[in-house]
Amino acid sequence: MVKKLPFTKKKISGIMDKHKTPFHIYDEKGIRENAVRLKKAFKDFEFKEFFAVKCLPNPFILKIMKDEGFGLDCSSLPELLLAEKVGIAGENIMFSSNDTPAEEFAKAKELGAIINLDDISHIEMLEKTAGIPELICFRYNPGPERKGSRFIGDPKEAKYGFTKEQLFEGYKLMKEKGVKRFGLHTMVVSNELDPSSFVQTAKMLFELVVEVNEKLGIRIEFVNFGGGVGIPYKPTDKPVDIDYVAAEVKKLYDEIIAANGLPPLKIFTEYGRNMAGPYGYLVARVIHMKHIYKDYVGLDASMANLMRPAVYGAYHHITVLGKENEKPTHMYDVTGSLCENNDKFAIDRILPEVEVGDIVVIHDTGAHGHAMGFNYNGKLRSAELLMREDGSVVEIRRSEKVDDYFATLDFKKLGKFKV
Ligand SMILES: *Cc1c(COP(=O)(O)O)cnc(C)c1O
Repeated sequence: MVKKLPFTKKKISGIMDKHKTPFHIYDEKGIRENAVRLKKAFKDFEFKEFFAVKCLPNPFILKIMKDEGFGLDCSSLPELLLAEKVGIAGENIMFSSNDTPAEEFAKAKELGAIINLDDISHIEMLEKTAGIPELICFRYNPGPERKGSRFIGDPKEAKYGFTKEQLFEGYKLMKEKGVKRFGLHTMVVSNELDPSSFVQTAKMLFELVVEVNEKLGIRIEFVNFGGGVGIPYKPTDKPVDIDYVAAEVKKLYDEIIAANGLPPLKIFTEYGRNMAGPYGYLVARVIHMKHIYKDYVGLDASMANLMRPAVYGAYHHITVLGKENEKPTHMYDVTGSLCENNDKFAIDRILPEVEVGDIVVIHDTGAHGHAMGFNYNGKLRSAELLMREDGSVVEIRRSEKVDDYFATLDFKKLGKFKV
């Protein structure tokens, strides 16, 4: 598949007149069209997507997700506060955290969020700090039952969720404590492109719903498939066919849930990457070309703006704007300026000949891009821009200034500090 861009070089040059590179720019049209596709795929269900805030925690984006009818999946206190700021509360928030601090349970409960417990021991903490809610969800870890994926890894090596035994014990305990409504969650893969993995997850959860009903007399009201749907980072990757997944899930639903005479079961997802990843781009300028033992393209962006290539060895496609139709003839390492040799967006990438001043677009930075940014080496975090459906561009987060970098330091105190 050819990796296309929703903008031209002329458009980006115009944006660069007003906004300094590097910046991330998001494509509202792409986000909304994808959201509509997801809802359409699951139209036969009572379905809700809870967008995983951690992928792209910008309130302007969250407002678009809200407008599409989505809830939010939050995993920390600041993410809960972000949800509150965009006017999302109650059961439109799924609080899926792990190793959770007590005060976060309290805020989640205050907002009326669906609390998704990661561990059986959290029941006691929740009861002490927030009280037992009317509705509870548990995250299931199938352990040796499932293979998992390259990122989360083998489920039995993963830190998340309840064992099967604990799941039954937990539901029983919560029922005794007065919980009236129940949900079931799992997430065993990340950035997975094999659609059968999601079908298997649905089957596993549907069968568990039946088993919990039979053994404990508990009706599970919803299953949450978690996130983990991959995106085609490489031109050769095949996107996950969500229509196929939803159609297979429907068959399983009819065979397992409906055929057993269970009441309607809601289907929830917590997709993050799939909702935002392909619709973000990191735009940078080439500031240096360096030729030593290898040839290097030096950008004004660094892994502080996008750390996936450095930490995961992840592939991000790179387009040299205006050179889309030129032959890729040169091999480069595309680097940032951190004093870290892994600060590379690409290694041995074949591109058209690059020159100082070229504009480079790094694809698929809409999820886990700006969000994973950091200040190491005194790097200031970039701006985030949104290209609206009418083509206009809004700055939805300004770039950091040196004062932001110093904001947590007290230089008056330093002046009085005797050494
Ligand atoms: C990260 C995360 C998600 C989103 O994952 P994607 O792979 O981006 O879809 C959903 N749920 C939980 C609990 C997560 O930790």
